[in-house]
Amino acid sequence: MFLVDAMLGNIAKKLRLLGYDSEYSSNMNDDELVLRAKKENRIIITKDELLSHQARKKNVPLIHVTKNDEVGQIVQIYKNLEFTKSVISSAKTRCTICNGQLDSIDKDQVTTKVPDGVLEQTDHFWKCSECDKIYWEGSHIKNLQKFVIGLNEKL
Ligand SMILES: [Zn+2]
Repeated sequence: MFLVDAMLGNIAKKLRLLGYDSEYSSNMNDDELVLRAKKENRIIITKDELLSHQARKKNVPLIHVTKNDEVGQIVQIYKNLEFTKSVISSAKTRCTICNGQLDSIDKDQVTTKVPDGVLEQTDHFWKCSECDKIYWEGSHIKNLQKFVIGLNEKL
């Protein structure tokens, strides 16, 4: 779920206590951190301007914490999460073409309907209940996440 910047180790521990999968490493440079977040599909939490900038450039979801106290920081994270959570669960996501509701579908039911490369890298698929369009994390959910994160930046 999260990849927490080394500067915010205390926050990583708090988030774990709160039940969130939060990785944290003190010996990664910014490049490595961004790469890892992208690879593991994690949201970066940082106070660092430079790192925030780098993450945005690479389209990695990010929560930029600006408060100095722990409670304020957690509140900021929660506020951001309200938006990302509803997207990640995809339960409320609708078809971009017809606005139909998406249902989870087993991987073995989509083998002939999606490119081979996608099949190898993805386990979660959804099908539109109206128009039968197939969605997967790469095509749909990640783009939505990007959009929501962008939205958050403007709030
Ligand atoms: Zn549809």
